[in-house]
Amino acid sequence: MTENIEVIVIGGGYAGVMAANRLSRRDDVRVTVVNPRPHFVARIRLHQLVGGSDDAVVDYATVLTERARLVVDSVAWIDAAERRVVLTTGGALPYDHLVYAVGSGSDVRGVPGAAEYALPLATLEEAERLRAALAAEPAAAPVTVVGGGPLGIEAAAELAELGRTVTLVCGDELGPDLHPRGRQSVARRLSGLGVVVLDGAGAAVTAVTRDSVRLRDGRDLPSTVTVWAAGFGVPDLAARSGLTTDSLGRLLTDETLTSVDDERIVAAGDAAAPSDLPYRMSCQGAVQLGPYAADTVLSRIEGKQPAPVALGFVSECISLGRRDAVFQSTRLDDTARGFHITGQLAAWLKELICTGTVKQLGLEARRPGLLRYPSWTRDHRRRQVLAGRETPAAG
Ligand SMILES: Cc1cc2nc3c(=O)[nH]c(=O)nc-3n(C[C@H](O)[C@H](O)[C@H](O)COP(=O)(O)OP(=O)(O)OC[C@H]3O[C@@H](n4cnc5c(N)ncnc54)[C@H](O)[C@@H]3O)c2cc1C
Repeated sequence: MTENIEVIVIGGGYAGVMAANRLSRRDDVRVTVVNPRPHFVARIRLHQLVGGSDDAVVDYATVLTERARLVVDSVAWIDAAERRVVLTTGGALPYDHLVYAVGSGSDVRGVPGAAEYALPLATLEEAERLRAALAAEPAAAPVTVVGGGPLGIEAAAELAELGRTVTLVCGDELGPDLHPRGRQSVARRLSGLGVVVLDGAGAAVTAVTRDSVRLRDGRDLPSTVTVWAAGFGVPDLAARSGLTTDSLGRLLTDETLTSVDDERIVAAGDAAAPSDLPYRMSCQGAVQLGPYAADTVLSRIEGKQPAPVALGFVSECISLGRRDAVFQSTRLDDTARGFHITGQLAAWLKELICTGTVKQLGLEARRPGLLRYPSWTRDHRRRQVLAGRETPAAG
């Protein structure tokens, strides 16, 4: 009888589920997914949970291979020397290979009062708390959304469409990753929804109180509910476990997504920092990184050299309420092109992306390995950047 190869996936989000599904290709691999909740969280719909148009959860039976075991728990510590993970509720699980896919969460550090008074929406529990906080306040109560990136834009538009009085404080630029033309369209739509957009260097939040936010230029804005959408942080599990991370706490890996400390540990999704050149934290990146991480494990099991990672991006699609969105076309390396779509068509595309992503997970669960993309759909510029880094200085 052949022994099973135990692979543990920490985190049942987009990257972890894709990795687990791909790993189920081999009958002798036993996959265990450790995740704190018994259902899959469609994080890209959490602003919809806040607005009440979706519950943002999906049954794991729809997205996760039936060959994977789901352990509803959290990993408190990775004991790499003993090749086991220690669970929060006690007990430990041994592994032969480990996939680190713990994702990301909110980052409320650095601004006085933000941790106490601002409400993030990066996790299911945070979004539920925000929804309850909004429900407790009258519709006319001033709401401030902090953060001019995709998350802040989506949250501001969603709430304004529900009749809330919303100010979006961008920190600096509105939609910094967007092409100027895409940015203009977003600004127009936000204005149409009645959102007051504050951008520029002075519009950075320097303090949050129970009922106001203070800006760098000295302005105080009344704010009954302050929504924190100013960037993501990552869990500190890797650092806590003595593994090498980048400055944010993402697991530092080589180009095959293998930890620089341990060949048996690979990373995927928002919590991975390949060659200290991490991809943009995104669902689009996570669903590609998960299978890569799994392929690296499968290659090692088969005694083959794992392939270097190369992702390809096509768009950044930001919802602007339920009836509008901006579909910003991007180059494969994730930089914005001039072309973008707005209006109902873009809203429809956004919905297609949200439902399509869940379908993609389900497809990989039923037909592991089917979702493979040709090399021309991938960006290989990273390799050039790395090669540039390695080129010795002239002279
Ligand atoms: C409101 C919102 C809208 C977004 N919209 C978009 C979008 O339109 N397009 C896009 O590309 N991206 C979007 N994103 C970003 C996207 O959701 C993330 O980049 C994506 O979820 C990352 O996937 P992941 O698998 O790395 O992590 P996650 O999906 O966060 O999954 C990680 C899982 O690991 C679990 N976990 C964490 N710590 C532990 C532990 N110690 N033990 C066990 N399990 C653990 C977490 O609970 C979670 O279930 C959005 C995010 C938000 C919040």
